[in-house]
Amino acid sequence: ATPTALMAGTGKAAENGILFRDGEAIQTMKDLDVVVLDKTGTITEGDHSVTDVVVEADRQSVTDGGIATDDPGDDADVASGAELDEDELIRLAASAERGSEHPIGHAMIEYAENSGIELSDPDTFESVPGKGVTATVDGRSVAVGNPRFFEDELEVSLPTRIDDRLRDLEREGKTTVIVGLEDEPVGLVSTADTIKEGSVDAIAQFHERDIETWMITGDNERTARAIADQADIDPERVMASVLPQDKIDKVAQLQDKGYTVGMVGDGINDAPALKQANVGIAIGTGTDIAIQSSDVSLVRGQLDALVDAFTLSERIFSKIK
Ligand code: ADP
Ligand code: MG
Repeated sequence: ATPTALMAGTGKAAENGILFRDGEAIQTMKDLDVVVLDKTGTITEGDHSVTDVVVEADRQSVTDGGIATDDPGDDADVASGAELDEDELIRLAASAERGSEHPIGHAMIEYAENSGIELSDPDTFESVPGKGVTATVDGRSVAVGNPRFFEDELEVSLPTRIDDRLRDLEREGKTTVIVGLEDEPVGLVSTADTIKEGSVDAIAQFHERDIETWMITGDNERTARAIADQADIDPERVMASVLPQDKIDKVAQLQDKGYTVGMVGDGINDAPALKQANVGIAIGTGTDIAIQSSDVSLVRGQLDALVDAFTLSERIFSKIK
């Protein structure tokens, strides 16, 4: 491209909210074979809200069965406390998430506040990226996280009832975490996130251009597939339960197959993968680190801007030949 064509092109793109860091990115754009899309915050709004709060403690079934519940010898009392209902479950979980930056935690806190539930400040807090958090709330140890968190980190196996319920909720496309009290799984909280307005159309247009669309997420396979289904992404191209540090390898594996890969993401988690990709694309007002690690920013936060960027790349680089 002549410098003038590039300047004019990038200027025009900037007006449409597409910021290129360098000319090379514009050129590579038209050669992409694969676009890898982060799920949360890229395909979806990333704005979770709580949809389900489920108490699945032994204690609850005892209460439901109408059996006397004031027996101090009841083992479940130790873990579940005297009155574990949905409000108490979300109060403990949201309090534990106070130190967390994760959208799941934010959703719980917001839900509790909207329900007029007063939260406690946790005395201790620890978070494991891609897995969950533990905290001490009102002197009790509270854990909130996915099965991997309970099984690998806490070494607690999940009761069948919790596991079954978890699968059902996940199949509905809901991100679901387990709540544990004193290391005993006692309930579940689901959050859901909506697909961005422009995502479905944009993905259809990638496919029209023979660009393969892949989804990558730390979320579980069932939830990821439900979202992929709505976005018309091939279930075979869903990479789920990917730990933050492993996203980069997934991009590298696609490159090893000979693909030129564009990666779109918004989070800190995505930064190394954005660097690894042939074109790293930050979306939305996202994290600074994501923007710094990218070659292109889509400031309006919609994937359709990427379609415009492809068109621009083709236009500029076909003129010059
Ligand atoms: P993504 O940004 O793709 O959703 P993350 O790596 O941030 O992926 O999270 C992956 C999964 O780890 C979540 O779906 C959830 O199961 C679990 N997780 C991460 N952080 C938390 C948290 N603060 N509380 C509960 N669960 C969490
Ligand atoms: Mg994200």
